[in-house]
Amino acid sequence: MFKALLLEEADGKVSSSIQTLEESRLPEGDVTIAVQYSTLNYKDGMILKGLGRLVRNYPHVPGVDFAGTVVESSHPAWKNGDEAILTGWRVGEMRWGGYAEKARVKGDWLVKLPAGLTAKRAMAIGTAGFTSMLCVMELEKNGIDPAAGDVLVTGAAGGVGSVAVAILAKLGYKVVASTGRVAEESEYLQKLGAGEIIDRATIATPSGKPLDSERWVGCIDAVGGSTLATVLPQMKYRGCVAACGLAGGTKLDTTVIPFLLRGVRLIGVDSVMCPADIRREAWQRLARDLPADRLDAATKTVALEALPALADDILAGKVRGRVVVALGGK
Ligand code: NDP
Repeated sequence: MFKALLLEEADGKVSSSIQTLEESRLPEGDVTIAVQYSTLNYKDGMILKGLGRLVRNYPHVPGVDFAGTVVESSHPAWKNGDEAILTGWRVGEMRWGGYAEKARVKGDWLVKLPAGLTAKRAMAIGTAGFTSMLCVMELEKNGIDPAAGDVLVTGAAGGVGSVAVAILAKLGYKVVASTGRVAEESEYLQKLGAGEIIDRATIATPSGKPLDSERWVGCIDAVGGSTLATVLPQMKYRGCVAACGLAGGTKLDTTVIPFLLRGVRLIGVDSVMCPADIRREAWQRLARDLPADRLDAATKTVALEALPALADDILAGKVRGRVVVALGGK
């Protein structure tokens, strides 16, 4: 038997409850994990609220990531006692996820917990932090180094943004953090390593000009919408935007001019279907390039029972940093 947060649907409305389930209800898979920690991401908020048709089959256990210990395996790479991380592969959407004391998945989807990380710190990173690292790696691949100039992070006080600020600062970049919560979160963002903090209102409305004053050599954008439309004409020559989020909307109203006349690169970043070699590299980098004290400062730990209320908060942009969900972990 194991405890899980179960979503059920009736008359088009999704409701959640904490239930004790038989192991026979776990989905198919060749590795069973005793989950220690999971996390709350923006997508989890949508799933908990039944938004965006991300889940097609109910009853459903959400939780798009988890870390834990292998307790049963018929996969050659995994044996009992191994510590593993899962992010992506549509676990928590198409398949039952990490908001449970047990999870069963394909062994091919799991990554070994890197040396230097605990299960809790791995989940303090979680899907959001993993995506931040993929964004940093895209900026690097496109030649954006710390000497090149200012790097903007949007949605900076949220999960993706907070970890992006901490990684970039540790790597020596001058980070400009954009937040809608300047009064409440400036001190927090400075502690993470932000060199400058700007109010997101200043980059939320496009000027209407196809090219604007050059401000950013790089950008990690967790917001999309009119913010991304404002930032693109502000990019410096051959600047690079790693876009991963849509917290501010999905519509992008822009022109080709920043791409043609300034050679701006706009790279979409997806953590869900990310290939295994890049996945492993990103986790190794996270173990190395993310200072534990800054990560801990960005993390709050909650119980499974707290999630339904926090889903409203994350969708309203009110959550600071990362929310870790304690299951079996100390
Ligand atoms: P959070 O809610 O923790 O962070 C989002 C932040 O965006 C908020 O904290 C807020 O930051 C800002 N924000 C919220 N609403 C608005 C708005 N209407 N306009 C402008 N800014 C807003 O979510 P996550 O960090 O978990 O995720 C961020 C985005 O990244 C989401 O869209 C998520 O779906 C996406 N994502 C994508 C992944 C991928 O693989 N591509 C993986 C993980 C996440 P502030 O108050 O500081 O301005």
